Amino acid sequence: MIKAIKGTRDILPPESAVWNRVEETAREVLSVYGFSEIRTPVFESTELFARGVGADTDIVAKEMYTFDDRDSRSLTLRPEGTASVVRAYLEHQLHRDPQIWKVYYLGPMFRRERPQKGRFRQFHQLGAEVLGSDHPAIEAEVIELLQLFLDRIGVGETELLVNSIGCGHCRPGFLRKLQVALSEIEDRLCQDCRRRCRSNPLRVLDCKREACQPVIERLPSILEFLDEPCRLHFDRFLGYLERRDIGFRIVPRLVRGLDYYTRTTFEITSRGLGAQNALVGGGRYDGLAEVLGGQPTQGFGFALGLERVILLSRQGDRPASAGQPQLFVAPLGEPALDRASLMAREFRRQGIHCFMDFAPRSLKSALRLANKLQAGHVLIVGENELKTGQFPLKRMRDGRQILVSETEVVSRLENGF
Ligand code: AMP
Repeated sequence: MIKAIKGTRDILPPESAVWNRVEETAREVLSVYGFSEIRTPVFESTELFARGVGADTDIVAKEMYTFDDRDSRSLTLRPEGTASVVRAYLEHQLHRDPQIWKVYYLGPMFRRERPQKGRFRQFHQLGAEVLGSDHPAIEAEVIELLQLFLDRIGVGETELLVNSIGCGHCRPGFLRKLQVALSEIEDRLCQDCRRRCRSNPLRVLDCKREACQPVIERLPSILEFLDEPCRLHFDRFLGYLERRDIGFRIVPRLVRGLDYYTRTTFEITSRGLGAQNALVGGGRYDGLAEVLGGQPTQGFGFALGLERVILLSRQGDRPASAGQPQLFVAPLGEPALDRASLMAREFRRQGIHCFMDFAPRSLKSALRLANKLQAGHVLIVGENELKTGQFPLKRMRDGRQILVSETEVVSRLENGF
Protein backbone atom coordinates (compact mmCIF):
# COMPACT_ATOMS: atom_id res chain seq x y z
CA MET A 1 0.00 0.00 0.00
CA ILE A 2 1.26 3.51 -0.81
CA LYS A 3 1.59 5.67 2.29
CA ALA A 4 2.14 9.38 2.93
CA ILE A 5 5.81 10.42 2.94
CA LYS A 6 7.59 10.41 6.30
CA GLY A 7 7.23 13.78 8.02
CA THR A 8 4.01 14.67 6.16
CA ARG A 9 0.49 14.04 7.39
CA ASP A 10 -3.14 14.12 6.36
CA ILE A 11 -5.39 16.54 8.16
CA LEU A 12 -8.65 14.64 8.28
CA PRO A 13 -12.11 15.73 9.39
CA PRO A 14 -13.02 16.59 12.10
CA GLU A 15 -9.48 17.97 12.75
CA SER A 16 -9.66 19.98 9.52
CA ALA A 17 -12.56 21.93 11.06
CA VAL A 18 -10.23 22.98 13.89
CA TRP A 19 -7.68 24.16 11.30
CA ASN A 20 -10.37 26.18 9.55
CA ARG A 21 -11.39 27.85 12.80
CA VAL A 22 -7.79 28.69 13.71
CA GLU A 23 -7.11 30.09 10.23
CA GLU A 24 -10.33 32.11 10.34
CA THR A 25 -9.31 33.62 13.68
CA ALA A 26 -5.87 34.45 12.25
CA ARG A 27 -7.46 36.24 9.29
CA GLU A 28 -9.79 38.19 11.58
CA VAL A 29 -7.05 39.34 13.95
CA LEU A 30 -4.59 40.24 11.17
CA SER A 31 -7.20 42.14 9.26
CA VAL A 32 -8.13 44.21 12.33
CA TYR A 33 -4.45 45.13 12.56
CA GLY A 34 -4.40 46.24 8.92
CA PHE A 35 -2.67 43.25 7.29
CA SER A 36 -3.77 41.89 3.89
CA GLU A 37 -3.13 38.41 2.59
CA ILE A 38 -0.31 37.59 0.18
CA ARG A 39 -0.04 34.24 -1.63
CA THR A 40 3.36 33.51 -3.09
CA PRO A 41 4.42 30.38 -5.04
CA VAL A 42 5.28 27.24 -3.13
CA PHE A 43 8.52 26.87 -5.11
CA GLU A 44 11.05 29.52 -6.00
CA SER A 45 14.52 29.64 -7.49
CA THR A 46 17.02 28.05 -5.10
CA GLU A 47 19.10 31.20 -5.15
CA LEU A 48 16.38 33.16 -3.36
CA PHE A 49 16.71 31.02 -0.24
CA ALA A 50 20.46 30.53 -0.53
CA ARG A 51 20.87 34.30 -0.47
CA GLY A 52 17.89 35.31 1.64
CA VAL A 53 18.10 32.65 4.33
CA GLY A 54 21.88 32.31 4.26
CA ALA A 55 24.02 29.55 2.81
CA ASP A 56 25.42 28.59 6.20
CA THR A 57 22.07 28.09 7.95
CA ASP A 58 20.86 24.58 8.75
CA ILE A 59 17.89 25.25 6.52
CA VAL A 60 19.95 25.92 3.41
CA ALA A 61 22.86 23.60 4.23
CA LYS A 62 20.86 20.46 4.92
CA GLU A 63 17.11 20.84 4.99
CA MET A 64 15.89 22.17 1.66
CA TYR A 65 13.95 20.18 -0.90
CA THR A 66 15.89 21.22 -3.97
CA PHE A 67 15.59 19.76 -7.43
CA ASP A 68 16.56 20.56 -10.99
CA ASP A 69 13.69 21.50 -13.24
CA ARG A 70 13.57 20.00 -16.76
CA ASP A 71 15.53 22.97 -18.06
CA SER A 72 18.22 22.35 -15.40
CA ARG A 73 17.23 25.37 -13.37
CA SER A 74 17.54 24.71 -9.64
CA LEU A 75 14.24 25.08 -7.78
CA THR A 76 13.40 24.73 -4.09
CA LEU A 77 10.20 24.11 -2.16
CA ARG A 78 9.94 27.09 0.15
CA PRO A 79 11.35 26.43 3.63
CA GLU A 80 10.00 29.74 5.00
CA GLY A 81 7.99 32.73 3.83
CA THR A 82 9.93 35.95 4.42
CA ALA A 83 12.32 35.71 1.47
CA SER A 84 9.38 35.23 -0.93
CA VAL A 85 7.47 38.18 0.52
CA VAL A 86 10.46 40.49 0.13
CA ARG A 87 11.10 39.13 -3.38
CA ALA A 88 7.49 39.95 -4.30
CA TYR A 89 7.78 43.42 -2.75
CA LEU A 90 10.85 44.18 -4.84
CA GLU A 91 9.62 42.49 -8.01
CA HIS A 92 6.37 44.48 -7.99
CA GLN A 93 8.25 47.68 -7.12
CA LEU A 94 6.13 48.31 -4.07
CA HIS A 95 8.92 50.34 -2.49
CA ARG A 96 7.77 53.19 -4.74
CA ASP A 97 4.66 53.44 -2.59
CA PRO A 98 5.51 55.61 0.41
CA GLN A 99 3.20 53.66 2.72
CA ILE A 100 4.28 50.76 4.85
CA TRP A 101 3.27 47.38 3.47
CA LYS A 102 1.64 44.93 5.86
CA VAL A 103 0.96 41.42 4.61
CA TYR A 104 0.34 37.96 6.04
CA TYR A 105 0.50 34.47 4.61
CA LEU A 106 -0.81 31.05 5.57
CA GLY A 107 0.52 27.92 3.95
CA PRO A 108 2.82 24.91 3.80
CA MET A 109 6.60 25.08 4.24
CA PHE A 110 9.07 22.26 3.58
CA ARG A 111 12.19 21.31 5.53
CA ARG A 112 13.91 17.96 5.63
CA GLU A 113 14.29 17.77 9.40
CA ARG A 114 14.14 14.67 11.58
CA PRO A 115 10.42 14.21 12.25
CA GLN A 116 9.25 14.10 15.86
CA LYS A 117 6.34 15.42 17.92
CA GLY A 118 5.56 18.92 16.60
CA ARG A 119 8.21 18.69 13.86
CA PHE A 120 7.33 17.75 10.30
CA ARG A 121 8.85 17.90 6.84
CA GLN A 122 5.77 19.59 5.45
CA PHE A 123 4.37 21.94 8.08
CA HIS A 124 2.26 25.08 8.00
CA GLN A 125 3.05 28.61 8.98
CA LEU A 126 1.11 31.74 9.62
CA GLY A 127 3.46 34.63 9.00
CA ALA A 128 3.20 38.40 8.78
CA GLU A 129 5.63 41.03 7.55
CA VAL A 130 5.74 44.82 7.85
CA LEU A 131 7.92 46.43 5.21
CA GLY A 132 8.98 50.06 5.23
CA SER A 133 9.07 50.94 8.94
CA ASP A 134 11.88 50.88 11.47
CA HIS A 135 9.76 52.02 14.38
CA PRO A 136 10.04 49.91 17.53
CA ALA A 137 6.34 50.51 18.24
CA ILE A 138 5.39 48.44 15.21
CA GLU A 139 7.40 45.57 16.69
CA ALA A 140 5.45 45.76 19.96
CA GLU A 141 2.22 46.00 18.01
CA VAL A 142 3.00 42.81 16.08
CA ILE A 143 3.69 40.99 19.34
CA GLU A 144 0.46 42.40 20.75
CA LEU A 145 -1.51 40.97 17.83
CA LEU A 146 0.18 37.59 18.29
CA GLN A 147 -0.94 37.59 21.89
CA LEU A 148 -4.50 38.40 20.89
CA PHE A 149 -4.47 35.57 18.36
CA LEU A 150 -3.01 33.01 20.78
CA ASP A 151 -5.51 34.11 23.38
CA ARG A 152 -8.46 33.79 20.99
CA ILE A 153 -7.53 30.25 20.00
CA GLY A 154 -6.94 29.27 23.61
CA VAL A 155 -3.16 28.88 23.75
CA GLY A 156 -2.01 29.91 27.22
CA GLU A 157 1.20 29.39 29.18
CA THR A 158 3.48 31.03 26.65
CA GLU A 159 6.67 32.97 27.22
CA LEU A 160 8.01 35.85 25.15
CA LEU A 161 11.81 35.89 24.72
CA VAL A 162 13.43 39.01 23.28
CA ASN A 163 16.87 40.19 22.27
CA SER A 164 18.67 42.65 20.04
CA ILE A 165 21.45 41.52 17.73
CA GLY A 166 22.56 45.01 16.79
CA CYS A 167 23.35 46.11 13.27
CA GLY A 168 26.14 46.07 10.70
CA HIS A 169 27.80 48.89 12.62
CA CYS A 170 28.01 47.39 16.13
CA ARG A 171 27.94 43.66 15.44
CA PRO A 172 31.50 43.36 14.03
CA GLY A 173 33.00 44.44 17.39
CA PHE A 174 30.97 41.79 19.16
CA LEU A 175 31.90 39.17 16.57
CA ARG A 176 35.63 39.83 17.10
CA LYS A 177 35.22 39.37 20.84
CA LEU A 178 33.09 36.28 20.30
CA GLN A 179 35.67 34.75 17.98
CA VAL A 180 38.42 35.19 20.57
CA ALA A 181 36.22 33.61 23.27
CA LEU A 182 35.31 30.76 20.94
CA SER A 183 38.90 29.98 20.04
CA GLU A 184 39.53 29.26 23.71
CA ILE A 185 36.66 26.82 24.22
CA GLU A 186 36.13 25.43 20.72
CA ASP A 187 37.10 21.87 21.65
CA ARG A 188 34.18 21.69 24.11
CA LEU A 189 31.59 22.36 21.41
CA CYS A 190 29.78 20.00 19.04
CA GLN A 191 30.97 19.34 15.47
CA ASP A 192 28.47 21.76 13.95
CA CYS A 193 29.47 24.53 16.33
CA ARG A 194 33.15 24.02 15.53
CA ARG A 195 32.33 24.51 11.89
CA ARG A 196 30.26 27.60 12.74
CA CYS A 197 33.16 29.07 14.74
CA ARG A 198 34.84 29.66 11.41
CA SER A 199 31.94 30.19 9.01
CA ASN A 200 29.52 32.18 11.18
CA PRO A 201 30.36 32.48 14.88
CA LEU A 202 27.07 34.22 15.76
CA ARG A 203 25.30 31.01 14.94
CA VAL A 204 27.06 29.11 17.72
CA LEU A 205 24.82 31.01 20.14
CA ASP A 206 21.84 29.49 18.40
CA CYS A 207 22.89 25.84 18.90
CA LYS A 208 20.18 23.77 20.50
CA ARG A 209 22.39 20.86 21.66
CA GLU A 210 22.16 20.24 25.39
CA ALA A 211 25.91 19.61 25.73
CA CYS A 212 26.85 23.01 24.22
CA GLN A 213 24.59 25.04 26.52
CA PRO A 214 26.90 25.46 29.56
CA VAL A 215 29.68 26.64 27.23
CA ILE A 216 27.40 29.03 25.33
CA GLU A 217 26.10 30.47 28.62
CA ARG A 218 29.55 31.88 29.38
CA LEU A 219 30.17 33.51 25.99
CA PRO A 220 30.08 37.33 25.77
CA SER A 221 26.63 38.94 25.42
CA ILE A 222 25.82 41.00 22.36
CA LEU A 223 23.79 43.41 24.48
CA GLU A 224 27.01 44.84 25.89
CA PHE A 225 28.14 45.79 22.40
CA LEU A 226 25.06 47.58 21.04
CA ASP A 227 25.79 51.04 19.69
CA GLU A 228 23.73 54.00 20.83
CA PRO A 229 20.98 53.88 18.15
CA CYS A 230 20.56 50.09 18.59
CA ARG A 231 20.50 50.37 22.39
CA LEU A 232 17.89 53.16 22.15
CA HIS A 233 15.80 51.13 19.70
CA PHE A 234 15.85 48.11 22.01
CA ASP A 235 14.94 50.19 25.09
CA ARG A 236 12.06 51.82 23.28
CA PHE A 237 10.81 48.43 22.08
CA LEU A 238 10.89 47.10 25.66
CA GLY A 239 9.11 50.24 26.84
CA TYR A 240 6.30 49.69 24.34
CA LEU A 241 5.94 46.11 25.58
CA GLU A 242 5.83 47.24 29.20
CA ARG A 243 3.14 49.82 28.50
CA ARG A 244 1.08 47.03 26.97
CA ASP A 245 1.59 44.83 30.03
CA ILE A 246 3.28 42.23 27.84
CA GLY A 247 5.71 40.18 29.94
CA PHE A 248 9.07 39.21 28.42
CA ARG A 249 12.45 37.73 29.24
CA ILE A 250 15.64 39.10 27.68
CA VAL A 251 17.73 36.25 26.29
CA PRO A 252 21.06 37.52 24.92
CA ARG A 253 21.70 34.21 23.14
CA LEU A 254 18.57 34.55 21.03
CA VAL A 255 20.07 35.28 17.63
CA ARG A 256 17.75 33.22 15.39
CA GLY A 257 19.29 31.05 12.71
CA LEU A 258 19.00 33.48 9.84
CA ASP A 259 21.53 35.89 8.37
CA TYR A 260 19.40 38.87 7.58
CA TYR A 261 18.18 39.74 11.08
CA THR A 262 19.10 43.09 12.60
CA ARG A 263 18.25 44.57 16.00
CA THR A 264 15.09 43.07 17.54
CA THR A 265 14.65 39.30 17.59
CA PHE A 266 11.97 37.41 19.49
CA GLU A 267 10.54 34.00 20.08
CA ILE A 268 7.36 32.81 21.75
CA THR A 269 7.71 29.45 23.45
CA SER A 270 5.24 27.20 25.18
CA ARG A 271 5.53 25.15 28.31
CA GLY A 272 2.98 22.68 26.99
CA LEU A 273 5.19 21.28 24.20
CA GLY A 274 8.16 18.99 24.54
CA ALA A 275 11.53 19.59 22.91
CA GLN A 276 9.95 21.50 20.02
CA ASN A 277 8.65 24.31 22.22
CA ALA A 278 9.05 27.26 19.83
CA LEU A 279 5.68 28.50 18.63
CA VAL A 280 6.70 31.75 16.97
CA GLY A 281 9.98 33.17 15.74
CA GLY A 282 10.52 36.61 14.37
CA GLY A 283 12.44 39.81 14.24
CA ARG A 284 13.74 42.72 12.26
CA TYR A 285 15.51 42.12 8.96
CA ASP A 286 16.53 45.51 7.60
CA GLY A 287 19.33 43.88 5.57
CA LEU A 288 17.31 41.37 3.59
CA ALA A 289 16.04 43.45 0.68
CA GLU A 290 19.58 44.49 -0.23
CA VAL A 291 20.83 40.92 0.03
CA LEU A 292 18.20 40.11 -2.59
CA GLY A 293 19.45 42.88 -4.85
CA GLY A 294 16.82 45.50 -4.02
CA GLN A 295 16.57 48.90 -2.41
CA PRO A 296 17.36 49.07 1.31
CA THR A 297 14.02 48.29 2.97
CA GLN A 298 13.23 48.00 6.64
CA GLY A 299 11.35 44.87 7.60
CA PHE A 300 9.89 43.20 10.64
CA GLY A 301 7.88 40.00 10.86
CA PHE A 302 7.20 36.64 12.39
CA ALA A 303 6.36 33.05 11.48
CA LEU A 304 4.17 30.87 13.65
CA GLY A 305 3.95 27.08 13.42
CA LEU A 306 0.30 26.12 12.99
CA GLU A 307 0.77 22.42 13.88
CA ARG A 308 2.22 23.45 17.23
CA VAL A 309 -0.41 26.03 18.17
CA ILE A 310 -3.20 23.66 17.12
CA LEU A 311 -1.72 20.96 19.33
CA LEU A 312 -2.05 23.38 22.25
CA SER A 313 -5.25 25.13 21.23
CA ARG A 314 -8.43 24.63 23.20
CA GLN A 315 -10.22 24.83 19.84
CA GLY A 316 -9.57 21.12 19.52
CA ASP A 317 -11.89 20.49 22.47
CA ARG A 318 -14.92 21.92 20.74
CA PRO A 319 -16.92 19.37 18.78
CA ALA A 320 -16.83 19.87 15.05
CA SER A 321 -20.14 21.16 13.80
CA ALA A 322 -19.42 21.20 10.08
CA GLY A 323 -20.19 17.51 9.65
CA GLN A 324 -23.66 17.47 11.18
CA PRO A 325 -26.50 17.63 8.62
CA GLN A 326 -29.65 19.57 9.37
CA LEU A 327 -31.60 17.21 7.15
CA PHE A 328 -31.12 13.59 6.18
CA VAL A 329 -33.06 12.72 3.00
CA ALA A 330 -34.04 9.03 3.02
CA PRO A 331 -35.39 7.74 -0.30
CA LEU A 332 -37.19 4.42 -0.07
CA GLY A 333 -36.36 2.47 -3.24
CA GLU A 334 -34.65 3.32 -6.50
CA PRO A 335 -37.51 5.17 -8.27
CA ALA A 336 -37.93 7.56 -5.30
CA LEU A 337 -34.19 8.25 -5.22
CA ASP A 338 -34.22 10.27 -8.43
CA ARG A 339 -36.93 12.65 -7.17
CA ALA A 340 -35.44 12.77 -3.69
CA SER A 341 -32.06 13.88 -5.04
CA LEU A 342 -33.73 16.73 -6.95
CA MET A 343 -35.50 17.72 -3.73
CA ALA A 344 -32.12 17.71 -1.95
CA ARG A 345 -30.73 20.00 -4.66
CA GLU A 346 -33.49 22.51 -3.92
CA PHE A 347 -32.96 22.33 -0.13
CA ARG A 348 -29.23 22.88 -0.57
CA ARG A 349 -29.84 25.84 -2.86
CA GLN A 350 -31.78 27.33 -0.01
CA GLY A 351 -28.84 26.80 2.32
CA ILE A 352 -29.90 23.67 4.15
CA HIS A 353 -27.03 21.36 5.12
CA CYS A 354 -28.44 18.19 3.64
CA PHE A 355 -27.20 14.57 3.63
CA MET A 356 -28.55 12.63 0.65
CA ASP A 357 -28.55 8.89 1.16
CA PHE A 358 -27.89 6.89 -2.01
CA ALA A 359 -27.57 3.39 -0.54
CA PRO A 360 -30.49 1.00 -0.90
CA ARG A 361 -31.64 0.45 2.67
CA SER A 362 -34.65 0.00 4.89
CA LEU A 363 -36.24 2.88 6.76
CA LYS A 364 -34.93 1.42 10.01
CA SER A 365 -31.37 1.31 8.73
CA ALA A 366 -31.68 4.87 7.32
CA LEU A 367 -32.80 6.16 10.71
CA ARG A 368 -29.90 4.38 12.38
CA LEU A 369 -27.44 6.09 10.02
CA ALA A 370 -29.13 9.50 10.47
CA ASN A 371 -28.74 9.02 14.20
CA LYS A 372 -25.07 8.19 13.83
CA LEU A 373 -24.47 11.30 11.70
CA GLN A 374 -26.32 13.35 14.33
CA ALA A 375 -28.71 14.66 11.70
CA GLY A 376 -31.30 17.12 13.00
CA HIS A 377 -34.20 15.79 10.94
CA VAL A 378 -35.04 12.99 8.52
CA LEU A 379 -37.27 13.42 5.47
CA ILE A 380 -38.77 10.17 4.20
CA VAL A 381 -39.35 10.00 0.44
CA GLY A 382 -41.18 6.83 -0.70
CA GLU A 383 -43.42 5.95 -3.63
CA ASN A 384 -46.62 6.71 -1.69
CA GLU A 385 -45.33 10.04 -0.42
CA LEU A 386 -44.48 11.08 -3.97
CA LYS A 387 -48.06 10.25 -5.03
CA THR A 388 -49.72 12.21 -2.18
CA GLY A 389 -47.14 15.05 -2.08
CA GLN A 390 -46.98 14.73 1.73
CA PHE A 391 -43.72 13.60 3.34
CA PRO A 392 -42.99 12.49 6.91
CA LEU A 393 -40.44 14.85 8.50
CA LYS A 394 -39.03 13.44 11.71
CA ARG A 395 -37.22 15.44 14.37
CA MET A 396 -34.47 13.21 15.69
CA ARG A 397 -34.09 14.91 19.07
CA ASP A 398 -37.52 13.78 20.35
CA GLY A 399 -38.81 11.52 17.57
CA ARG A 400 -41.71 13.88 16.79
CA GLN A 401 -42.98 13.47 13.23
CA ILE A 402 -45.19 15.65 11.03
CA LEU A 403 -46.38 15.49 7.43
CA VAL A 404 -45.20 18.30 5.15
CA SER A 405 -45.25 19.20 1.49
CA GLU A 406 -41.97 19.63 -0.40
CA THR A 407 -42.20 23.42 -0.30
CA GLU A 408 -42.78 23.49 3.46
CA VAL A 409 -39.62 21.59 4.41
CA VAL A 410 -37.19 24.50 4.48
CA SER A 411 -39.43 26.88 6.41
CA ARG A 412 -40.20 24.15 8.94
CA LEU A 413 -36.48 23.59 9.53
CA GLU A 414 -35.74 27.27 9.75
CA ASN A 415 -38.60 28.06 12.07
CA GLY A 416 -37.83 25.36 14.58
CA PHE A 417 -40.07 22.64 13.09
P1 AMP B 1 11.44 29.43 11.95
O1 AMP B 1 11.17 29.93 10.57
O2 AMP B 1 12.43 28.30 12.00
O3 AMP B 1 11.71 30.50 12.94
O4 AMP B 1 10.08 28.77 12.41
C1 AMP B 1 8.99 29.52 12.87
C2 AMP B 1 8.01 28.58 13.53
O5 AMP B 1 7.61 27.57 12.60
C3 AMP B 1 8.61 27.78 14.68
O6 AMP B 1 8.55 28.52 15.87
C4 AMP B 1 7.73 26.58 14.72
O7 AMP B 1 6.53 26.84 15.42
C5 AMP B 1 7.40 26.34 13.27
N1 AMP B 1 8.26 25.30 12.67
C6 AMP B 1 9.51 25.42 12.18
N2 AMP B 1 9.96 24.27 11.68
C7 AMP B 1 8.98 23.36 11.86
C8 AMP B 1 8.81 21.96 11.55
N3 AMP B 1 9.77 21.27 10.93
N4 AMP B 1 7.64 21.36 11.87
C9 AMP B 1 6.65 22.06 12.48
N5 AMP B 1 6.74 23.36 12.78
C10 AMP B 1 7.88 24.02 12.49
